Amino acid sequence: TNHPAGVSRSKEDYLLGGLLLDDPQLTQNCRSRAQQHLYRKASRFLPSNILISRLRNYEALHRKCAVDAKHFVQIFKSPGADAEALRTASDCRFAVWIAWSGLGNRLMTLVATFLYALLTDRILLVDRGTDMSDLFCEPFPNSSWFLPVDFPQSWLEGLNRSNPYRFGHLIDKGKCSVHVNVSSIPVYSYVDLTHSFDLQDRRFFCEEEQKVLNQIPWLFLRTNIYFVPSLYFVPPLNKKLEKFFPQREALFHHLARYLFHPSNDVWGRIIRFYDAYLSNVDQIVGLQIRIFDPTKTPTENVTSQVFACVLGNKILPNTSNADANEQPWAAHIVRENKVISVLVTSLHRGHYDSVRKFYLHQPTEDGSLVRVNLPSHEGEQRTDKPDHDKQALAEIFLLSFSETLVTSPMSTFGYAAQGLAGIRPWLLTRPGEDSYPNFACMKAFSVEPCFHVPPLFDCDCQGGTDPGKIIPFVRHCEDVRWGLKLS
Ligand code: GDP
Repeated sequence: TNHPAGVSRSKEDYLLGGLLLDDPQLTQNCRSRAQQHLYRKASRFLPSNILISRLRNYEALHRKCAVDAKHFVQIFKSPGADAEALRTASDCRFAVWIAWSGLGNRLMTLVATFLYALLTDRILLVDRGTDMSDLFCEPFPNSSWFLPVDFPQSWLEGLNRSNPYRFGHLIDKGKCSVHVNVSSIPVYSYVDLTHSFDLQDRRFFCEEEQKVLNQIPWLFLRTNIYFVPSLYFVPPLNKKLEKFFPQREALFHHLARYLFHPSNDVWGRIIRFYDAYLSNVDQIVGLQIRIFDPTKTPTENVTSQVFACVLGNKILPNTSNADANEQPWAAHIVRENKVISVLVTSLHRGHYDSVRKFYLHQPTEDGSLVRVNLPSHEGEQRTDKPDHDKQALAEIFLLSFSETLVTSPMSTFGYAAQGLAGIRPWLLTRPGEDSYPNFACMKAFSVEPCFHVPPLFDCDCQGGTDPGKIIPFVRHCEDVRWGLKLS
C-alpha cells in the first residue's frame, strides 16, 4: 500500500505493533481500522507484550460478559427486582461509562475508564448517548461495547451527586474509612469522578476503598477528567500499570489507538480533507486554538501569541520584505520549494485568516510555501449534535496526523490529538498567568494528557500531601499548575 505522502508500509502495520487484533470482521466493518496507519508516521512507542496479551484476554472476557450484561437489564428497569440474585448469577463485573461532556473529555474518560476496567478485571460498557454509535466503530471482536439497547436511560440520568447509590455515601465522613460491612455491599454503585467531586468520592484513589469497589459488580462512572495519573497512587494498580506500560508517556497513546476507530462516515470526512488539503506536502503543522471565554480573550492577543510561538521557535518560517521579483519563479512548475501545510482548528475563523494573510502578503525567508487550512469554524460548542460531534472528531484525528503540533492550554481536544499522534506538542501559555509572563509557548515534557483536578494524596487522613511530590514520574502539568501528568 502507498502512504499518501509516499512512504510504503507493510500489510501488518495496521495492527500497530500487535496492539490491534487481526480480526477480518472488525476490519471489514471499519475502514479507519484498516487505514489509520497510512496517515500517520509509525509510532516511536511500541506496546509491551504484557499489554498485548492483557488486551487479548480482555477481548475474551468482554465477549463473555457482554452476554451476561443483557440478563441484568431487568434490575435497572424495575428497582424491586432481586439484585442479590444477580450477584450469584454471574461472576462478571462492569464499569459503565456515562456519555457526558465535550468530545475531547470523552476520549480522556473512555481511556481512563477502560484502563480502570483492564486493571480491575471488569468490562467497559458504554452509554451510547445521542451519537456515540455514529462516531466510533466497535473496538472489540464479536461483541459490542455499548450497554444493552434496552438499558433504561432514565436510570443513567438519575446518576448525580444526590443519588443514594453514590459511592461517596458509603464512606464515613471524618472517619477515614468505608463504613459498609461486607454483608451489605451493594450490587451497584455510582462513582462521581467529575471535576467537582467531593472528599468522599475522591477516596476512589485509595487502596482500602478499591477493595470495597472490587466487590461491587456494577460501577457506573460519570467523569470528565483524565484520572489516570492518580491510579498510580493505589499500590496494587500501580504494580500492574508499571508492567503494562514500561513507557508511561505512551499510555493514552496506546489505549486511544486501540479503542478509537472513527466510523466510516467520520473517516470519509477525515480522508477527503486530508487527501485534498494535506497530502503531498513536506510537513503538516497543526495549530489547535481553543478559547474558553472569547469575551475575555481578544482575538488579536491570541493571534500575536501564536505568531510569537511559531516564529520564535522556528515552527513555521518567517516572512521577509524582499522584493517580490526575487522570489522563486513559478514555483508550481519548478517544484523546488518546500511546502508546509498548516492545519488550523478552531471554533472561530479569525486566527486562520491572520495566519493565511501573513503568508500571502509577503514571501517566506527560506522560500518555502505555506498552505493554511481551516476545516470548519462551528462558532460555538454544540456537544450532542451528531453533525457537530462528527466534525470535532474528524478534526481531532486530522490534527493527530501532524508532524508538529501547537496546542491550547487546558484543552482536552488538544490532548486527544497529541496523544493519538504520540508527539509532545508546543503548548501555548495561559494569557495572564503570572508564572509564565515571558514566553508564548513551551514544548510539553510528555505526550500524556493532564489530570486537571487531582485530589490531595491523603488516604491516611493525615492532612494530605501534594500529589505532585509522591512519585517522581507523576508531575505537575505545564498548563495547570495543580494538575498531574505522567512522564
Ligand atoms: P475542551 O473543552 O477544549 O477540553 O475540549 P472538548 O472536546 O471536551 O470540548 C470542546 C468541544 O467544543 C468539542 O468537543 C467540539 O464540540 C467543540 N470544539 C472546540 N474546538 C473545536 C475545533 O477546533 N473544531 C471543532 N470542529 N469543534 C471544536
